[in-house]
Amino acid sequence: MKQSFKEFQLDSSILQALERLEYVSPTDVQQEVIPVFLENKDLIVQSKTGSGKTAAFAIPLCNKIDWLENKAQALVLTPTRELAQQIKQDIINIGRFKRVSATTVVGKQSYEKQKLALKQKNHVVVGTPGRVLDHLEKGTLPIDEIRYVVIDEADELFNMGFIDQVEAIIEKLPANRITTLFSATFPEEVESLCRSYMDAPVTIKLDKVSQTKNPITHKAMYVADDNKLDLLQSILITENPDRCIVFCRTQQKVDTLVNQLKAWHYPAEKIHGGMKQEDRFQVMDAFKSGSFRYLIATDVAARGIDVANIPLIINYDIPLEKESYLHRIGRTGRAGKTGNAITFVTDTERYYLEMIENYIGEELKQATLPSDEQVEKHKPAFNKKINQKSQPNNRIQKNLDQDIMKLYFNGGKKKKIRALDFVGTITSIEGISADDIGIITVEHNQSYVEILNGKGKHVLQEMKHKTIKGKQLKVHQAKK
Ligand code: ADP
Ligand code: MG
Repeated sequence: MKQSFKEFQLDSSILQALERLEYVSPTDVQQEVIPVFLENKDLIVQSKTGSGKTAAFAIPLCNKIDWLENKAQALVLTPTRELAQQIKQDIINIGRFKRVSATTVVGKQSYEKQKLALKQKNHVVVGTPGRVLDHLEKGTLPIDEIRYVVIDEADELFNMGFIDQVEAIIEKLPANRITTLFSATFPEEVESLCRSYMDAPVTIKLDKVSQTKNPITHKAMYVADDNKLDLLQSILITENPDRCIVFCRTQQKVDTLVNQLKAWHYPAEKIHGGMKQEDRFQVMDAFKSGSFRYLIATDVAARGIDVANIPLIINYDIPLEKESYLHRIGRTGRAGKTGNAITFVTDTERYYLEMIENYIGEELKQATLPSDEQVEKHKPAFNKKINQKSQPNNRIQKNLDQDIMKLYFNGGKKKKIRALDFVGTITSIEGISADDIGIITVEHNQSYVEILNGKGKHVLQEMKHKTIKGKQLKVHQAKK
């Protein structure tokens, strides 16, 4: 058994990034997947939620990237835009010192901006199927260098809502590509369908929920529809979780519930498919950074979303699909932590509960509802926490981001400036070498240069007096 990432054939730049991310040793799935991925084999990987599947593909993928090649070499498909965003960030974090560049191509965002971004150096494209297909059809996403395709949450992407688009995408890609699929769930029909697009895939399956010690405690609470709101309040008071996701069946129910919680002045926000995309991203970021505690969501937040330290998931409405149950509750109990999942069940929904129990091979423990006395007893602690500012939740990401400063320059291609010109000037500053320069993006009238290793401030000061290709450009710190 491998104990350290050093035992894989990985670039030192990747190992350095893993150290910064505080990934001490590979998780089980990473141990199995990384060597096979490095050998360029098609792969089907099933392992439970929170087991580290993203890094299992992102590490070997970043290692494989040919930095000098400007065209996309890998395409990652995900079912939701928030997940695409998250995976892009993971790839950038892991590929940070190799300066791997990645961009997202998702729906409900400016097509033109994406088109421009795709013209830049982009090693990895992460996207949702509809918009990726759009770019492929219009020729704005170059495909000839794409060597790796990763389909995350693969069973969802080979399901009804996405299958036509995903098939159309795969058919356009070069035949010599490596195809890899990842999910916590693989219904048989879906798996055999996937296989038809792969070349003798290696199958890696581990951690079936029923076989390993389960980090998540599953509970069911029987409740009438009319009493759900009261029950939710009692649970939030007695459990008093730092963070919690409450899943509802419809957008409308999410809206109603979040309005109710806000009326009580609870720190709650919502996410569902009917919201503007900027609002969705903003809510996800705020939840990840810890600015509010209760996220009320539809299944749009069920797959892949990784937020540290969520101790409790509540299914306000029981999911109607058994796989959905696993994905929802898999937002807790991640990366070796434990978690609790409470599912509300009404009288007419027992059928769904049985279906879920059969599927996970475990009965949900029937929990008694919190009594009035219990609620009263926990109220002081609850009120105290409600009035406190919550703890920031993204320490590592913040540390990483502090290391990097993105600089804006008011000149680009129109002034015949190229990326190399920035490298030349910036490395002429004392104490700065090429290793301190991250991703460079040269647009028509402006450019962006990332400065690494906490040297941004210094470079910013110096660049106010230096010229690039004989031109004095305005420079300031770029907004994110
Ligand atoms: P999955 O896709 O399997 O549900 P993720 O890839 O989202 O899980 O990873 C879950 C969490 O585990 C993430 O927060 C990630 O940063 C963390 N993680 C992944 N690999 C490691 C590792 N080797 N050591 C420590 N934490 C890890
Ligand atoms: Mg995942």
